[in-house]
Amino acid sequence: MTGAVAELAALIAQARSLVCFTGAGISTESGIPDFRSPGTGLWTKMKPIPFDEFVASAEVRQASWRRRFESGPVIERAAPNVGHEVIAHWVAEGRCRAVITQNVDGLHQRAGVPDDRVIELHGNATFARCLACHRRYELADLEAQYRGTGQVADCANCHGIIKSATISFGQPMPEDEMRRADAVTRAADLFLVAGSSLSVYPAAALPELAQAQGARLAIVNREPTHLDSMADCVVHGELGTTLSLVKRPS
Ligand code: NAD
Repeated sequence: MTGAVAELAALIAQARSLVCFTGAGISTESGIPDFRSPGTGLWTKMKPIPFDEFVASAEVRQASWRRRFESGPVIERAAPNVGHEVIAHWVAEGRCRAVITQNVDGLHQRAGVPDDRVIELHGNATFARCLACHRRYELADLEAQYRGTGQVADCANCHGIIKSATISFGQPMPEDEMRRADAVTRAADLFLVAGSSLSVYPAAALPELAQAQGARLAIVNREPTHLDSMADCVVHGELGTTLSLVKRPS
């Protein structure tokens, strides 16, 4: 182990209150494309649908369901990779207090991180909810309905709009998750960014908050981020390889 990876290993070894902040980059090794990687990122192929457009137009909503069901079960088929497993190990040994994730794939929980240690800032794409009464809907049921009728109907309970349980661009952030993320960030002694371009706010403000409160800041990302110059340690590399190298035995 050399250079920045060795520095990261030393920071992790000293940490008593590690907070991991993950983005789409930790799940690319599970086969889920991120948004902004050059060439493979989804952004260039499939622009996200903003919340106000989804709410305003039944046509846009059906187009969004078509996109969801015609692109195949990418998230459902994915399995946690070594990066998720190393983070789950740090949580299990008590070193990592919380995982704040921008991801919507549920892979941290499937790697073994308890639900109450994962803070999902952008929701979860593996189920849906009514925007009005918040009734939960399973995607398999909605897909069967879509394949049978060519559309997803409004909520059976209150006629509200049903939407994947993610936070879309322009949708208000979930208050409870933001409050919890703020609290664990302020209590961190090491804040580790893993696989995020740090370009989606307000989530991307958390690393700076952590550092302002006295935490060390470490970043592992394939490409540079705008916070690299202020971080205590930066590793430009693959997450699976990097986190495997720095994982400490129990
Ligand atoms: P992003 O796409 O903006 O950035 C991902 C970063 O990860 C890139 O800078 C890339 O260089 C890096 N990266 C990709 N694979 C890597 C690897 N194997 N090792 C190290 N680095 C790697 O992602 P973001 O910052 O999370 O913001 C995008 C938004 O899109 C998030 O809000 C998230 O909700 C959503 N999203 C989620 C998923 C998911 O749940 N898996 C997938 C795509 C997008």
